[in-house]
Amino acid sequence: MNCKKFYDANYVFESKEIPKCSCGGTIKPDVVLYEEGLDDNTIMNSIKVILNADVLIVAGTSLTVYPASGLINYYRGNKLVLINRDAIPFDYKANLVINESLGKVFENLEI
Ligand SMILES: [Zn+2]
Repeated sequence: MNCKKFYDANYVFESKEIPKCSCGGTIKPDVVLYEEGLDDNTIMNSIKVILNADVLIVAGTSLTVYPASGLINYYRGNKLVLINRDAIPFDYKANLVINESLGKVFENLEI
């Protein structure tokens, strides 16, 4: 979190205590955790990608928490897929709604 150095996941899994960087800082996953902000570049790139997406699949979010809730409004297509275990208020805007655990849905995907 201090120096932005990257470690692979095994380093984190194998550490017995809170994983620490060689600089002494704490290592955290490179995902946005609840109530953390996203940096401007990430937001801008996300908007660009979503604006040009043919299909948008949103999985595992109730879409009530910023920034996911705001980003979905940039989608211009007609193939919005929402995957959540339970129904969410946003479902009516989707073209396809799948109410099932994410694990089950993704393990049955064939690419
Ligand atoms: Zn460090």
